[in-house]
Amino acid sequence: MEHKNIKRRDFLKATAITGAAALGGIAYKGLTNIGSVNAQSESITQVIKTNCRACIANCGVLVHVRNGRVIKLEGNPEYPMSRGALCAKGLSGIQALYHPNRNKYPMQRVGARGENKWKRISWNEALDITAQKLMETRDKYGAETVFASTGGGGNPQFPSIPRFCNAFGTPNWFEPGCAQCYLPRTVTFALMYGGQMGCQGSDTSIADSQCLEIYFPDDTPMKSLVMWGTAPSNNSPSGGGRALSDLRARGVRTVVVDPRLTADAAKADVWLPIRPGTDPALMLAWIRYIIEHKLYDEEFVMKWTNLPFLVDPESKMCLRKCSTVQCKDGEYLVWDQKTRSPQPMPFPWNDRIDPALEGSYEIDGRTCKTAFQLLKERAEPYTLEKAAEICWLDPAKIEEAIKIYADRPSGCSLGVATDQNPLSAQSAMGNAVLELIMGNVERPGSLLQRFVSPPQIADVPDLRGLLSYEQLLKRLGAIEHKGLLQWWAAQPTAVLDAIKTGKPYKPRVWIERSGNKLATLGNASEWAAAIGGLDFIVHMYMYPTSFSAYADILLPATEWLETDLPVISANMLFARQAVTHTYETMNETLFWSKLAKRCAALGHEGCQAACDPKRALGPAGPGGGDANQMVSFPYWDTEEEFLNLCVSGIGMTWKEFAAKAPIEFAPYGEWKRYYVYKQIDPKTGKPQGFSTASKKCEVYGDAFITLGRTGMPFSTYELPPASKDYDPLPNFEEPHESPTGPLAKDYPLVITSGRLPYYHHTTLRNIPYLRSIYPVPEIWINPVDAKKYGIAHQDWTWVESLRGKITARARITEGIAKGVVYMERFWNPETLNTPTHGWREMNINVLTKQDAPYNDVFGTYTLRGFLVRVSKASGPPKGVWYKPEDFKEWLPEPSDPTKQAEA
Ligand code: SF4
Repeated sequence: MEHKNIKRRDFLKATAITGAAALGGIAYKGLTNIGSVNAQSESITQVIKTNCRACIANCGVLVHVRNGRVIKLEGNPEYPMSRGALCAKGLSGIQALYHPNRNKYPMQRVGARGENKWKRISWNEALDITAQKLMETRDKYGAETVFASTGGGGNPQFPSIPRFCNAFGTPNWFEPGCAQCYLPRTVTFALMYGGQMGCQGSDTSIADSQCLEIYFPDDTPMKSLVMWGTAPSNNSPSGGGRALSDLRARGVRTVVVDPRLTADAAKADVWLPIRPGTDPALMLAWIRYIIEHKLYDEEFVMKWTNLPFLVDPESKMCLRKCSTVQCKDGEYLVWDQKTRSPQPMPFPWNDRIDPALEGSYEIDGRTCKTAFQLLKERAEPYTLEKAAEICWLDPAKIEEAIKIYADRPSGCSLGVATDQNPLSAQSAMGNAVLELIMGNVERPGSLLQRFVSPPQIADVPDLRGLLSYEQLLKRLGAIEHKGLLQWWAAQPTAVLDAIKTGKPYKPRVWIERSGNKLATLGNASEWAAAIGGLDFIVHMYMYPTSFSAYADILLPATEWLETDLPVISANMLFARQAVTHTYETMNETLFWSKLAKRCAALGHEGCQAACDPKRALGPAGPGGGDANQMVSFPYWDTEEEFLNLCVSGIGMTWKEFAAKAPIEFAPYGEWKRYYVYKQIDPKTGKPQGFSTASKKCEVYGDAFITLGRTGMPFSTYELPPASKDYDPLPNFEEPHESPTGPLAKDYPLVITSGRLPYYHHTTLRNIPYLRSIYPVPEIWINPVDAKKYGIAHQDWTWVESLRGKITARARITEGIAKGVVYMERFWNPETLNTPTHGWREMNINVLTKQDAPYNDVFGTYTLRGFLVRVSKASGPPKGVWYKPEDFKEWLPEPSDPTKQAEA
């Protein structure tokens, strides 16, 4: 196709205009989906509706395309969560698409591993080499020695990775987010609240596009909102950040619990700069205060939670029988104050029974307490003063914050911060307990909702039914940490340990797709040392990262502007549409399908089954889609075939869908439904309750005990028990590296990390526009500490932990408490071709811990809340760019649109 090359100056001009348009909130009414809107002198500009994927918020985008080249991006006001806004990450999409250092063609390593020397090969060769290696490895060492991973960045159709692994017969794939982000919250809310999985209201994370109530500020009675370990203005500026500013403008009071003064903390009514790693102590203090001052929702607690149930002191489970009573289905024992005896409480309630909420009762010679009593006792030590002492806070401020939260309707949103230390499950449980005892459930103004769920249009089934029981037992780390079973994933450190020790077996082949595993995994030096010993590594991504330097095959993935996929937002369905295509990049979904087909052709039975419409069957398991749907999802040959499968449930082809999108799947008024638990189930004639074993909110988490003992409800098979029972209530333990312990003598500062508005996970560090704004990672340090360690503003500093030493630039600020420092993850693509490969200079994950202690449920290790020391350095690391002019080399280069890659 002929086109006029855009000059760099023009590009920068377009970017600036786009930024202004987004800020000004220009309204584009009545646009056609793909239409010519602007006749230029000799060419036509089309405006195409698509969705950003520079982070996971999927904001609506209008892409201006001329002669196949993207010339401008702006926000699509139709998208209900971003309403026409686009953040800096989204606006940098053009620089990402036309980056001169894109992975353009499949490449094969020619030098020694780590030398970063490559030769171009065809897709056919790349797929053949990879499939051959996989099959050889399976035949020689077992399918479990092949493992895969995914992570932030790009446009993954997420279940593609576990789907391939299940078909191939390996139980081992992981994502740092399995143990370190996301799962602690989603599993906890699934087990305790029992919302509807896959519906955007089943937990309290704003960053994960839950909490839909906040996006309609004119239409919610919400009075207060707590943001605990989350900074929506950083993690999803155009969606969550925009919604919050609208809520604040309408008088919603906010509390922010965050060690650093983020934009959201700066605007909060109360900011609690908590010591990193102590969140459950503060949550227990909130619970104690709420119970003591009877601020909880008594009716909801009595009738819709399991807190009045009696607990068996031996099994630790809610009691369902004693010598005088045997409960029927749906019944649990309570202590009836009228008869002074244990009585079965039928679902949902029996007015003839007067259950005791608290207390201890003698039943069959044992002292049985109510679940509420156990919760109260657990929280008892955590007075405001005690929590203030542990968390380095002011008790009066804690009390002020609780009172704001108690002003209902309210909500408490939990972010990734608390998922990144070994108390991950405890923090998520603390958050769930707070929301549930406050009755912040499915009422107008609450975060937890079951609005009408969307049709299943984007997720392919993960084929977990194809993985045998024997192979599942070999999953690394998953018998001990069964929370990972919600995603059917392995624990990253267990994989690392197996590579290092060969026990219980040695993983040998790694297929990875993400922004830079050496910048996201804890203790990166350990990983870099270990991966040298692997037999074969494939890396697929849009551009090379530090990890690529260690790969054998490097594959070019499509950027989001080259990718199609259905997108769900609130009550609407959108179409992410490829607006162009460059070089030989391939959609990742197609890659996994082609690899499975290659393995099938080489005789792999599981892959053959996954390609056969009649055989791609198996028990679906929770989260795996239903078995009928799996029949209709055999592996595909083309992207269009895949996309047609995705939207088949709504009776359209992809082309029809994309032409019509956005589509409302439910009218707004009907979609936003409240109090679903009270709706009468026509089958039983009773309220439908919640999706838990008791159909009540299980504030006492005996489902955690069942999970640890059996793997249920997430496993397709009953598994051996973990070495100890999971705790059914939130708990606090002092962090392993504690400022109160002996290590503090040499490493006196507690470090935390946290998102910036310019980057998503470890992506986009190669974007000139973003690096000009934020060129190198800052270490935030309080003026008192800065003085003590002789550091001035903007000084280059060394930051050291027991595991390594890196460089950062000092930001002296009272936005971080004394004794605490903050630094975000980073890597330096500009030193990719040096011996450091960009991951060693300024990467906080050189400092983090990947070893024990782990969270028992999820295997979470310590990415935040460990100890470091800071000292003055003489200058920046060699080769690191930090002046705006340094980044010129990465400005977009002209590129003809190309045909889709074929293989
Ligand atoms: S918040 Fe920014 S990066 Fe994320 S989807 Fe929206 S525009 Fe893209």
